[in-house]
Amino acid sequence: MAILTVTDIEKRYGELKAVDGVSFAVEAGEIYGLLGPNGAGKTTTISVISGLLRANAGTVEVDGQPFWKDPVRAKGRMGVVPQEIALYEELTGRENLLFWGRLAGLGKGAARRRADELLEALSLDSRGGDLVKAYSGGMKRRINMGCALMHRPKLLLLDEPTVGIDPQARNNILDFVEQLAADGTAVLYTTHYLEEAERFCNRIGIIDHGQVLAEGTLAELQQLAGGKQLYTLEGELDGARERLPTEFHQRFRILQSSETQLTVASIEDRNPADCLRELLDLPVRFGNISLKNPTLNEVFLNLTGRDLRE
Ligand code: ATP
Repeated sequence: MAILTVTDIEKRYGELKAVDGVSFAVEAGEIYGLLGPNGAGKTTTISVISGLLRANAGTVEVDGQPFWKDPVRAKGRMGVVPQEIALYEELTGRENLLFWGRLAGLGKGAARRRADELLEALSLDSRGGDLVKAYSGGMKRRINMGCALMHRPKLLLLDEPTVGIDPQARNNILDFVEQLAADGTAVLYTTHYLEEAERFCNRIGIIDHGQVLAEGTLAELQQLAGGKQLYTLEGELDGARERLPTEFHQRFRILQSSETQLTVASIEDRNPADCLRELLDLPVRFGNISLKNPTLNEVFLNLTGRDLRE
């Protein structure tokens, strides 16, 4: 069942369409990744969903009802973790949790119990009494997430929650989010880190210039990059492209070509051994050939002609 349904939302800033007809849905227990480069429209999309911005067109439904029909109800069902950390540095981690819990309408006892539960789940139980200003970046990110979860929302919106933290802290956060989804929370996760989207999103929407260019599971998106297998030839490949026979282009699509590397995908689903034989017979010189599954970067490259990592 969809907890969040976004239909054709549009947000303009003057002439610029920051969000240009975005639609997707997130189910209970699902992690939906919105993946795109800086400026793609991810934060604007989250701001529209959480009611911080009003869209110029389109609708947002939360747990079966339009957001603006009853914004208080909708906000009560979602937790929002903004990109910028919003914590009181002079309060302890626990006090921050209690503050947000009380704001969300929890009674004193319920807020205390929930804060303890979250401190443990976030592996911060031994540090809950320390002032936030003494926390590391990763610990702040975790408490920030805890604040959004005090009222047990059915939907969690996470805007690039791992920016600027070390790999171990990042893993803690990813594990925690995975557990939340396993317990039934619907998670919308924006990121520009390909590895995160690949590792743990059930479905991924690729967003660029305010539009969702493609959507699906990792396997479905890989299919868009020319199938399951990519072949990379390495060697002195200067001018190799011009020497490829015409029939080659009927069977393979060139994804990337440089003086030292040529990456191609088979257009049809063919036996890899046949493809390798055909590539080995090409009238070009190369020293190495490898076969691998396409990454999301290659999917993005195939869709936009640009590199997501640039
Ligand atoms: P980032 O990861 O850098 O935050 P993003 O994918 O979240 O990127 P947005 O912040 O949603 O992207 O921005 C989308 C586009 O809208 C960008 O071109 C941005 O410059 C523009 N934009 C965002 N907020 C405003 C604003 N308040 N006024 C004018 N333009 C804006």
